[in-house]
Amino acid sequence: MASAPFEYLAPSTFAEAIEALGEYGDAAVILAGGQSLVPMLNLRLVQPGIVIDINGVPNDGPVANGGWLTLPALTRHAEILSDPLVAVAAPMLVDAVHHVGNVRVRNRGTVGGSLAHADPTSEIGAAALCLGGEVVLTAASGSRTVPVDDLFVSYLTTSIAPGELLTELRLPALNGRSGVSFVEMVRRTSDFAIVAVAALVELEADASTVKRASVALSGVSDRPRLADSSLTDELIGQELPYARLRSLGAEIAARFEPPDDVHASASYRLRLIEVLTARALQQAMDRARS
Ligand SMILES: Cc1cc2nc3c(=O)[nH]c(=O)nc-3n(C[C@H](O)[C@H](O)[C@H](O)COP(=O)(O)OP(=O)(O)OC[C@H]3O[C@@H](n4cnc5c(N)ncnc54)[C@H](O)[C@@H]3O)c2cc1C
Repeated sequence: MASAPFEYLAPSTFAEAIEALGEYGDAAVILAGGQSLVPMLNLRLVQPGIVIDINGVPNDGPVANGGWLTLPALTRHAEILSDPLVAVAAPMLVDAVHHVGNVRVRNRGTVGGSLAHADPTSEIGAAALCLGGEVVLTAASGSRTVPVDDLFVSYLTTSIAPGELLTELRLPALNGRSGVSFVEMVRRTSDFAIVAVAALVELEADASTVKRASVALSGVSDRPRLADSSLTDELIGQELPYARLRSLGAEIAARFEPPDDVHASASYRLRLIEVLTARALQQAMDRARS
């Protein structure tokens, strides 16, 4: 099937793209990697008046500065896998992107497109949530910074307002006593996640007591979600609480009502949340110790 006809604009700066977004309003869509948008165009699920292709905007690549790693919206998934700055400052994102699609998807797909698309199974979404990331949304009137937790609203729906472009993802860099893990269940490599779990554990200076813990999940709801922090906060102050992880996984699972669909039943997903959460926390704790 071919897309409905549309106008095409290829700006060479984000400023030009934002100006066009302001001009065309709801009739415009942004084209980044096209890995989600192009299929939706071809299926006529989206019928924009104009496609604004931002691939001609220069991409300066990830930058680490002031305790933050900044990824421009056009950072390709493949760039995340090869960039030495990302490897050091956000290894969880690297682990997460290994699970995204196939080589073609990773070569074209962008971090901004993935977050703006807001697929509930998004690995990048779960990692950005778990790490406490934020996005910069820019409009003609200026920029605002939004925690990733406030970006995702529902299935394929974000809080990006008309006229706004997602220009950056910012992730707080990890300190030396942190460990991360990203695990997921798929039926075949490159499939969308049935359930994916991202975990972060930071230890105190004694390397045996938990200072901070965070878990985020995909495939469990209408959007990537943080686990209830009142549960993960129970780990704080405990001495390497390996024995607590399985029951914590079960308690975290009990806070979700995951979808029941052609890929997996809700009860199977609940079981995966329990097992994968415990596994991810254990691996994050092991890595933090070492
Ligand atoms: C075969 C296949 C397998 C895949 N597997 C996975 C997977 O396992 N996990 C996963 O998470 N994803 C998967 N994807 C999706 C992939 O990660 C996409 O790259 C991603 O969802 C969208 O990124 P994109 O850059 O291609 O965006 P596009 O497809 O160009 O755009 C997607 C949406 O975001 C909007 N948009 C894009 N950039 C911006 C911006 N900067 N500001 C505002 N709005 C913007 C567009 O208007 C559009 O609505 C898969 C895709 C395919 C085709």
